[in-house]
Amino acid sequence: MSTDETAPVEKPRNFIHEIIDEHNRAGRFGGRVHTRFPPEPNGYLHLGHAKSICLNFGTALKYGGKCNLRFDDTNPTKEDVEYVNSIMDDVRWLGFEWDGVYYASDYFEQLYQWAELLIQKGLAYVDSSTLEEIRQNRGTVTQAGSPGKYRDRPSEESLNLFRRMRAGEFADGAHVLRAKIDLAHPNMLMRDPILYRIRHAHHHRTGDDWCIYPMYDFAHGYSDSIEGITHSICTLEFEVHRVLYDWLIDSVGDIHHPQQIEFARLNLTYTMMSKRKLLELVESETVAGWDDPRMPTIAGIRRRGYPPSAIRAFCDDIGVTRFNGMTDLVVLENAIRNDLNRTAPRYMAVLKPLKVVITNYPEGQSETLDAVNNPEDPSAGTRQIPFGRELFIEHDDFLEDPPKKFFRLAPGREVRLRWGYFITCQEVVKDASGQIVELRCTYDPATRGGNSPDGRKVKATIHWVSAADAIPAEVRLYETLFTVPDLSEIPEDADWRSYLNPNSLTVNTDAKLEPALANLAVGDRCQFERLGYFCVDQDSKPGHPVFNRTVTLKDTWAKEQKKGD
Ligand code: ATP
Ligand code: MG
Repeated sequence: MSTDETAPVEKPRNFIHEIIDEHNRAGRFGGRVHTRFPPEPNGYLHLGHAKSICLNFGTALKYGGKCNLRFDDTNPTKEDVEYVNSIMDDVRWLGFEWDGVYYASDYFEQLYQWAELLIQKGLAYVDSSTLEEIRQNRGTVTQAGSPGKYRDRPSEESLNLFRRMRAGEFADGAHVLRAKIDLAHPNMLMRDPILYRIRHAHHHRTGDDWCIYPMYDFAHGYSDSIEGITHSICTLEFEVHRVLYDWLIDSVGDIHHPQQIEFARLNLTYTMMSKRKLLELVESETVAGWDDPRMPTIAGIRRRGYPPSAIRAFCDDIGVTRFNGMTDLVVLENAIRNDLNRTAPRYMAVLKPLKVVITNYPEGQSETLDAVNNPEDPSAGTRQIPFGRELFIEHDDFLEDPPKKFFRLAPGREVRLRWGYFITCQEVVKDASGQIVELRCTYDPATRGGNSPDGRKVKATIHWVSAADAIPAEVRLYETLFTVPDLSEIPEDADWRSYLNPNSLTVNTDAKLEPALANLAVGDRCQFERLGYFCVDQDSKPGHPVFNRTVTLKDTWAKEQKKGD
């Protein structure tokens, strides 16, 4: 075999890999590649984070480098160990393993020392103005800021105040530490940004050790530097922060200086990607929790049945760019379908059962029929499904007075039962209120397995389960949580909650499943023929499973109609 044939398939390259290749050619970072994924533990991860995880961990894998998991836990009031644990679960579930778990809070002492160093170098000062005064003195985009009365405070005085801030002598808001950069800088972030503030709050890891906390920009770059990160990959909104990132590292002196690189965040149609708003949905009990299968959280999509391999394939497909755009949810759903089409075993289930009695099938008799488990995967084999005189079919597969394009069951019409026989509807039974409660049909014993020896054609194949063997189940169907494709178009003054989809959840409590489905465990995925891909939910009880619809089988029905069989 030639080397060409055995060469591993390269993942699609992106502009970040081009930058890294360039660094490696030039010998920057000594050819090392060390990335990090830096979530703030203030909520559950969502699909946007999955993109960042695949990029950071995937880049490290591609270059034989390393990737750290770092908790950016510098804001004591919003963070919690529940989130730390869920984030670790989610990264692992996506199929990645970190080279180390780090916490920005472990660097608090080093960060504090660097803050003192900046003060000593005359590059930072304690400002005792109110936040309002600081805002006003910062100027506007078109107008330079003006120095407040503390800007030229002697270093000694700032140092003394900063130490007393740390010692807890002052109330929240009494002072802040600011960088001394340039109040006329065209980038507002460089106009003496705040580096530290007083916050008498309990931290989930450092307890009450600190009452001053570093700001994000201060902590982030230094954390990257301490960990020896080479490529600090972040989303585009941090592009304007890069000059500050570089200034802070350079100002300390001779410490490791990573390269910040920005990429466009993932936006998906109909999908909310703000942890803060997702938290609101959880707290207001609009959804059943962070792992509600309608949520775009990793915990939610996992429970919904999305395979991690499909998420990784999706992230590869959409690639990495420098332009903010909107990815169609269909692209994600197709990645899920492609994956499950290859891997999910097929079964039959009926969501809204309608009873069928095969009047010419002998009473008390039953048999089993051969069914293919996965037509895409011959190694999945076949199984036996029970058949008898009484069946359930999908209520929607019968119409008493069918319109022209309806080819499924109707009075006097013959259809094929999947893996079974041809049946013909002879009689419709109704209750006192006129509801259809039963169909009386005849079957053709010569059509066993689904073909007629005389070459007779039928225009539809429908799914069914044997009434005597069916297991009852609850089946939950989902639509998008929101009714608008582009959530960023919701006006600022509008209530975003009014764009929630009232039909995002439909519960079918009366579903009937083929008996083999009783053997599935929580989390197992399968296809219900003609209905979609499903996954066993954690709410399942012995003898009464609960299934979530992961995704529908797009186009299946249309194709079946066209084929005319
Ligand atoms: P949110 O706005 O939802 O709170 P965040 O960016 O504040 O998200 P972090 O915990 O700081 O949340 O994010 C960790 C990492 O994930 C960061 O590097 C961030 O850039 C990245 N990230 C967050 N959202 C997205 C997204 N939609 N697409 C790609 N990467 C994202
Ligand atoms: Mg953030």
